[in-house]
Amino acid sequence: MRLYEYEGKELFAKFNIPIPEGRLAASSREVEAIATEWNKPIVLKSQVLTGGRGKAGGVKVVENTYDAKAVAEKLFEMKIKGFPVEKLLVEPKLNIAREFYLGVTIDRLNYRLVVIASGEGGVDIEETAEKSPEKIFRKSFECDQELYKFDAVEIAKKLGLDSDHVKQAAQIIMNLYSLFKKYDAKMAEINPLVLTARGQLIAADSRISLDDDAVFRHADLAEMGIEKRHEEGEMTPREQQATEWGIPYLDLDGNIGMFPGGAGFGIMGNDFIHYYGGKPANFMDSGGGPSPERLAKMLVLLDENPNVKAIFGARFGGISRCDDFAKGVTMFLKEHGLSKPMVCRMTGNMWQEGVRLFDEAKKENPELFEHFEFHGIETPIEEISKRAVELAREAEGGK
Ligand code: GDP
Ligand code: MN
Repeated sequence: MRLYEYEGKELFAKFNIPIPEGRLAASSREVEAIATEWNKPIVLKSQVLTGGRGKAGGVKVVENTYDAKAVAEKLFEMKIKGFPVEKLLVEPKLNIAREFYLGVTIDRLNYRLVVIASGEGGVDIEETAEKSPEKIFRKSFECDQELYKFDAVEIAKKLGLDSDHVKQAAQIIMNLYSLFKKYDAKMAEINPLVLTARGQLIAADSRISLDDDAVFRHADLAEMGIEKRHEEGEMTPREQQATEWGIPYLDLDGNIGMFPGGAGFGIMGNDFIHYYGGKPANFMDSGGGPSPERLAKMLVLLDENPNVKAIFGARFGGISRCDDFAKGVTMFLKEHGLSKPMVCRMTGNMWQEGVRLFDEAKKENPELFEHFEFHGIETPIEEISKRAVELAREAEGGK
């Protein structure tokens, strides 16, 4: 979950990382009022949940108070990478002597935390990382390891500062590391960390991403107005819909809709589909005894996905019950209807009752079951997977 710059800066302040004095404005009139009150050069910073605002023209320096309103109006009309600008952070303009980069993130390949520092921060950091990787220093830590002062000093020295500022920077690094750990962050970044003409180190920008699943651990975030939110732009509309319905769901780039039991079954189904030369259109987890309503919604997600050409269904009733499964599928068939071929295998807890419900429903409304191929324990899961791949291929015209 990504935080806005101003939210990140509030967290910085809590951790004694120096930030500029700032105020949030939701209209150009508010900006004008702040500018008039301060009566000095300011920066207007678009608050959007994406990076690269500087390059996109979303950060503007206003030297003259009289211009503030007009500049703000232009910014409020902007969309940055698709995100409308609804709030501006107004700050006194910093007199920047140098820009540095500091970040803490997770090195997923090595299961470690990594602190990243560079003497060349600012809007071109990605380019620097690509073209001159030697200018970017990294030091990694075990996930439960503390970052000591001597570590922080070692990192700070790489920024190319004099000794007084090395001490200050080391303190900022330690504070950023504590913040990262305290709030279960995935990323905490200061870019740029600015050295002002007067010799102060200040965090001029913040970029913080928290682990969605840990947000509930931090009640004070809600007090600060930071609520769990969808990462717009990072979730597809279907993923957002699924999240609203409480269904763990991910879009993938294949054409077979995956309607498995729990996550484990889902992963196995994924492997089988690949093994037989097919590609799943999604990953979905229905485990933990889902209700018929929830199962029906899961099928709606698949049936309405234009990329899905065939549906693979596999239910092994463990905690969940096959009669509930049959009820959910039947509910979907009756209320929504299946527009794609679906192959489905069901076995396990309460399977006899499940089969009976399917038979009954089919007798009542045979037309609903037109695209629905049902199998029980007699058909191995490999056969079902193969069949799903076949159905998808047929639907694509034999490709
Ligand atoms: P980003 O492009 O989304 O990362 O936005 P930043 O907040 O990092 O701003 C981009 C650039 O604008 C920074 O690298 C600075 O060069 C410049 N900038 C940001 N704040 C100030 C400020 O207060 N004064 C001045 N002079 N420049 C600023
Ligand atoms: Mn930045």
